[in-house]
Amino acid sequence: MSRKYNFSAGPAMIPQEVLEQASSEMLDWHDSGMSPMEMSHRGKEYMSIAAEAEADLRELMVIPDNYKVLFLQGGASSQFSAIPMNLLRGKKTADYVNTGAWSKKAIAEASKYCDVNVVATGENSNFMSIPDVESWNLNEDAAYVHYTPNETIAGVEFHSIPDTGDVPLVADMSSTILSRPIDVSKFALIYAGAQKNIGPAGLTIVIVRDDLIGETIEGTPAMMDYAIQAKADSMYNTPATYSWYIAGLVFKWLKKNGGIGVMGGINKRKADKLYAAIDASDFYKNPVDVNCRSWMNVPFTLGNSDLDADFLEQAAENGLVTLKGHRSVGGMRASIYNAMPEEGVDALIAFMAEFEAKYG
Ligand SMILES: *Cc1c(COP(=O)(O)O)cnc(C)c1O
Repeated sequence: MSRKYNFSAGPAMIPQEVLEQASSEMLDWHDSGMSPMEMSHRGKEYMSIAAEAEADLRELMVIPDNYKVLFLQGGASSQFSAIPMNLLRGKKTADYVNTGAWSKKAIAEASKYCDVNVVATGENSNFMSIPDVESWNLNEDAAYVHYTPNETIAGVEFHSIPDTGDVPLVADMSSTILSRPIDVSKFALIYAGAQKNIGPAGLTIVIVRDDLIGETIEGTPAMMDYAIQAKADSMYNTPATYSWYIAGLVFKWLKKNGGIGVMGGINKRKADKLYAAIDASDFYKNPVDVNCRSWMNVPFTLGNSDLDADFLEQAAENGLVTLKGHRSVGGMRASIYNAMPEEGVDALIAFMAEFEAKYG
């Protein structure tokens, strides 16, 4: 067996230890005589798996008691509609910050339910930088402000939390959740599809302040009603049981390895050395404003794009896979979430230097 360093943006790597544990528990979880994926979600055993995952996530992120933690389905994309359905609460407008591809999708979906006020856009810089928070055209009367802390496709990340005063702040943390400590109390709602930095696809985490739920717009499906899901402990229907179980193992792995403070240090180091290698070379380039370069997704181009196919092929021969950039950006993208070991980043940097020496 030989595992590869998989730089996929999502679904992405899962820690090997977690996969090994899942494998050892596949046929018989804790003497239950069955796999977690065969258990009734209402049974005592599965309920303990679910509750422990929530408790561990609360501990890791220091989630205050007045927040609900929901384990839902439908991906982050479903939340693009669930958020206005739940958080408009009688208001007619919501503020959105447009920093790239995922912001745009959130805006398009929210526009079906309310007047979206785009308070700032990175369009002028071709979304390679984030408009200064001081310049945002915030509306005091907005139901909430939505932003995307990490734009997964272009690799643009906020390195601090914007201050929106009393207007509830909503964040799509799909590709940055658990990558570093954050102050959850600054947010009204945080959501994330699991397949980047949490675990398998099929699970979507929503962390929401409990005073904001329970007043949905007319016609909101029960499945998308946070109050209904919270009351049912995210089991209004059958949840994504196996993905939830694996996410729980990932949370244990994070705790065992020092929590997200330690992880944040490692992530910063991984990103810093990769950007340093790119910047030191005349051959590789990352076009993102240095102040908002992502720790999680690092796009880069080669001096000569005719070499892209050779780069990808030779990288794969070295066990470095899924480096092809998003079709809208081209070039390469290295996604280096929590589960990408530092050795994987070191191996990529060494390969890049070798490739440059040969063709640069
Ligand atoms: C991947 C991603 C999404 C979409 O997630 P799905 O779970 O596939 O719906 C949304 N927002 C961001 C920032 C992402 O990285």
